[in-house]
Amino acid sequence: MDIKTNTIETDILIVGHGIAGLAAAHAVKDEDPALKVLAVDKASLGYGGKANKGGGHVAFIPEGGEEKYVEYHTRNLGDYLNDQDALRNYAYSTIKVMDKWEKWGAKFIGRDIAFNAHPSIPWKVCLVDSTILLDMAREAKKKGIEFMDKIDVTDLLTYDGKVSGAIGFSVLTGERYIFKAKAVILANGNQNWGIMKMWSSGRGEGIGAAYRAGAMMRNAEFGSFVNIVSLDHGHVSYEAENYMYNKFGKKVDPNIPDLVDAAFRNVCGGVDIGGAIGLVMYSEVAAGNGPIYENIAENKFPDDPFGQIIFPMKGQAPKEWYRPGTHKFAHRLYEKAKLGGYAKNPGSDLREIVPGVVGECSPLYADHNMASNLPGLFSCGDISANGSSWSGAVPTPPGRNRGSGLMNAVYTASVAGPSAAKYASNISKVNVSEEQIEEITKQIYAPIDRYDGTTTSEIEWRIKSLLQYVPYSIYKSEARLLEALKEVEKLKKEVAQVVARDWHDLAKANACKSMVLCAEMFFKGSLARKESRGWHIREDYPNRDDKNMLKWINFQKGEDGEMVMSFTDVPMEKYKYKPEGWEPKNSESK
Ligand SMILES: Cc1cc2nc3c(=O)[nH]c(=O)nc-3n(C[C@H](O)[C@H](O)[C@H](O)COP(=O)(O)OP(=O)(O)OC[C@H]3O[C@@H](n4cnc5c(N)ncnc54)[C@H](O)[C@@H]3O)c2cc1C
Repeated sequence: MDIKTNTIETDILIVGHGIAGLAAAHAVKDEDPALKVLAVDKASLGYGGKANKGGGHVAFIPEGGEEKYVEYHTRNLGDYLNDQDALRNYAYSTIKVMDKWEKWGAKFIGRDIAFNAHPSIPWKVCLVDSTILLDMAREAKKKGIEFMDKIDVTDLLTYDGKVSGAIGFSVLTGERYIFKAKAVILANGNQNWGIMKMWSSGRGEGIGAAYRAGAMMRNAEFGSFVNIVSLDHGHVSYEAENYMYNKFGKKVDPNIPDLVDAAFRNVCGGVDIGGAIGLVMYSEVAAGNGPIYENIAENKFPDDPFGQIIFPMKGQAPKEWYRPGTHKFAHRLYEKAKLGGYAKNPGSDLREIVPGVVGECSPLYADHNMASNLPGLFSCGDISANGSSWSGAVPTPPGRNRGSGLMNAVYTASVAGPSAAKYASNISKVNVSEEQIEEITKQIYAPIDRYDGTTTSEIEWRIKSLLQYVPYSIYKSEARLLEALKEVEKLKKEVAQVVARDWHDLAKANACKSMVLCAEMFFKGSLARKESRGWHIREDYPNRDDKNMLKWINFQKGEDGEMVMSFTDVPMEKYKYKPEGWEPKNSESK
């Protein structure tokens, strides 16, 4: 193919300019204003990624409450699989991060009147508007940070074991882009399996790129965050969990899951609905009581004054909480999509709901400096939210605990930026391998050259079908995981022969590779974790096993190209909070 090539040199390359990428760019410039910073995204500046999808709850830990938060999170959400030191670093940083973030363009709403996100521990939430990316981009441009849009970055370039750039193509023209950089920060999101509409930007391409370059992955088995989706309108039905009925009209109470061991509830719930919700719905259906319905007349969330503050679909939030961007976004969603969906099915207040898998598989390993195991490669935001281990046995951004996605993105960016800047200041020359570039180029463009093969839509549909199926992704067992892995093995062969019809579809082909890869890690990790812990729920191993499974499960690409799994003991000896009855391995000899 006759494809134009553009070669661009920079000091720091940031892949993805969602909220984490923008914050990282600011953080690099604050550390060293002389560094040239370029952020590249497959979408458009201010409109890509998730931070603009109407969310905007920002969690922070007020001064004095940090240790209580660490203890609560470790015992109830991380389920002792979290890196307690990393969690402590996070907890003691949130206020400082907000101060920096304001300088980077954030306008907090309700910072001084933040509400409690939890009944007993100090954990506050204030808001930002959905225009936050535009505000941060405006400030970034003033600092000389450069941006490029509509470029799908597919792979990392390495030389002598170090990451020295990245490669991708324009989704508009197909032109090839080669980026040479002293350091690369991956900020291009995690894996949401393409199932839920508002999470559809998360396809894990950065995870795929890092894996192929040799990066380590960790905690992939926790990528099964589940929400409740209405079949009428296809979106999340907020608070539907409190108004669920089975086909016999009996209320389904998410807090009394008859078929669920009580131990699960302690670790699956946290402050918001947890992994147990999918399990409760599944249990009802498996017992012949399905489908499950939401009573939309009883669910007053859209009219609720608190609902108007946190997601203003109807009415208007009070002045001190008013967010014009989010107001417009939420109203349009409700009036066009949700009411439109309900209108198709009038006559009853009972509307069918199902577990909607959001995923949040985010396994790129990151140490306390947000460095990967590859020199020159750093990360921030969703991509490494579980791989950095601060949150433990919960899909990360953690479950539905509001506000930690944005805070994690900006906090980790505020660490990754300076780490990458310091690393770059010691690199005098950037080398790339022409041979590697040509080999990767062949791989990138192969789907568009092919006529025969599986389409991207088919691969995507089959991955969605696997992950959406509760008995595979939420309520796991050895037999079912092996079944799922059999399909993944087939998909691995087919994705190697995927066909693309245009440049956009070529980007989808790249996403498909990462979806299959993440599915393989998710199911293999789930199979290896022979216990139930946090949001990882095994029918055949219903108990937590602190004796054998206080381990992180890692994946890396082996020399033969196949996935290699390894285990790292959680260093419980050095951590403050230990599971009840836990003893050091060599306790007998003491
Ligand atoms: C509907 C919804 C509501 C939410 N509500 C909240 C909330 O209230 N509070 C909260 O804290 N969190 C919330 N979250 C989560 C939060 O938005 C995310 O955790 C956060 O925005 C992640 O930021 P990120 O920059 O790491 O990733 P993303 O926002 O996913 O950004 C990644 C960027 O990388 C780009 N990219 C991806 N692949 C490539 C590629 N191959 N090449 C080039 N660019 C690429 C994407 O286009 C995107 O711009 C919500 C998320 C959603 C979807």
